[in-house]
Amino acid sequence: MSTHIYGKSLINGEWVTGSEGTVTGLNPATNEALEPEFSLLGADQLDQATAAAKDAFASYRATTPEERAAFLDEIAEQIEARREDILARATQETGLPEARLTGETSRTSNQLRLFAKVLRHGNDNSVRIDPAQPDRTPAPRVDIRQRRVPLGPVAVFGASNFPLAFSTAGGDTASALAAGCPVVFKAHNAHPGTSEIVAQAIQAAIDKQGLHPGVFNLVFGPGAKIGQRLVSDPSITAVGFTGSRTGGMAIFHTANERPKPIPVYAEMSAVNPVFVLPGALDDAAGLAEGFFGSVTGSAGQLCTKPGLLFLPAGDAGDKFVAALAEHFNNSHGQTMLTKNIANAWLEATSKLRSQDGVRVAGEGAAGEGENAPAPVIFDTDLATFESNDVLEVELFGPASLVIRYNTVDDLIRVIDGLEGQLTATFQAAESDFAEVEKLLPHVEEIAGRILFGGWPTGVEVGHAMVHGGPFPATTNGSTTSVGTLAIERFQRPVAYQSFPESLRPAPVRDANPWDVPQVFDGQF
Ligand code: NAP
Repeated sequence: MSTHIYGKSLINGEWVTGSEGTVTGLNPATNEALEPEFSLLGADQLDQATAAAKDAFASYRATTPEERAAFLDEIAEQIEARREDILARATQETGLPEARLTGETSRTSNQLRLFAKVLRHGNDNSVRIDPAQPDRTPAPRVDIRQRRVPLGPVAVFGASNFPLAFSTAGGDTASALAAGCPVVFKAHNAHPGTSEIVAQAIQAAIDKQGLHPGVFNLVFGPGAKIGQRLVSDPSITAVGFTGSRTGGMAIFHTANERPKPIPVYAEMSAVNPVFVLPGALDDAAGLAEGFFGSVTGSAGQLCTKPGLLFLPAGDAGDKFVAALAEHFNNSHGQTMLTKNIANAWLEATSKLRSQDGVRVAGEGAAGEGENAPAPVIFDTDLATFESNDVLEVELFGPASLVIRYNTVDDLIRVIDGLEGQLTATFQAAESDFAEVEKLLPHVEEIAGRILFGGWPTGVEVGHAMVHGGPFPATTNGSTTSVGTLAIERFQRPVAYQSFPESLRPAPVRDANPWDVPQVFDGQF
């Protein structure tokens, strides 16, 4: 590896040694410590990072869309230039297979490039112009023009399970930077070296584009101390978070208890139900294979992993369970992200095993090395599911629960009782269309993304994607954390009334110097 890892935080362009002790990354396949040690910031040092972000805001918010787009493109270039080192380090720190991390690196740089394109098209401004109507009766109308402006410095918390795409330069950082907001990124202790290499890429892009060094800061320290202080800091204007429900809710409460509350976009937990309708069981074997792959890929550590599958009772359903059990029985565990995550998963699955009416339908063997527990599939009936809340809890790992139902009306009742979800999936054939139409309005009430066929793991980054959903999938179901709509989370609309053309901000001018799309009197 040619990249030197400092084991320090990046504050205002400088690598700073923290004053509050150290941690090391751990290789979850061996539980061995990885060099170097990472020093943890003290409170005063964290305050320097938020002050730097605040200081950078004035010049960064004034950058043109082309300047910000060039910056995002340059971050992508700098990440690609470090690709080999990123992969080497991330593989050691996370236990994830290299192929998965290769794809995630490309996804991270492509996401930055996609956001750059949005800036060049000017879509992020969402300009609306209501021209004056001096002759309108009974009262004339004044000229009103709306655009979106950046909120200010954003605190970003990455998740353990996406060391790149939901981490240092992941979706939240990319959307905040695209929106015109400096970022203070709280590094995840599960992949500190990977976080630092990517921060070096961002630092290089800042230098190359001649931006204020406080536009991006990387801070190391425990979430309960440094993370909480970051969210409380008056300079911070919004939070992007991906991770556990406990962590997300702790941050959400802190943000709401501030003298000046701020928005928290936390993507937390989901069980991503799959609804199998009878027609889909014509290919029970293919369905079982696809479901097994979606549940066990990345050792089941995906926020979109299908954790519940509702299956018709009867022979066809029995065949599906038998095929599924065989896949699980022949499987081996993969290394999980951390020892704590593996232990939490073992505890959660052991709790499920002890519930009345829940059966282990199939179970594999543990994998090689440490922290690679055996994948397992459970099954139960609808009455048991409906009478026990434990069965709806997310299992963060390679496990899922099959629930047998009798009628579509049963399903409607269950859907209406489910918590908010990132995704919900129909497995159905043309013979099931009438039932799907009946279920769809109920599913729309609980999910951010609804699939017809296919599997919810694997989230496309595009303009139409929604990776969000009602609570507790997120703390704010009105938006998405993946895709270009995510940029708007870190902006707010401002209306300019009766401004002379020369004083109007560029995107709302008649001359339209940035050539942005303008909705004029309600028409594109
Ligand atoms: P996490 O523990 O919520 O951590 C995410 C980030 O938030 C970390 O940087 C963490 O810092 C910080 N944080 C945690 N609690 C905080 C608090 N009270 N105040 C401020 N910051 C806080 O998420 P994770 O590491 O991705 O996953 C850990 C567990 O969450 C897993 O065992 C899994 O069961 C569950 N989970 C994760 C996901 C996911 O999509 N990532 C989904 C479902 C469930 P520190 O690490 O320094 O505390």
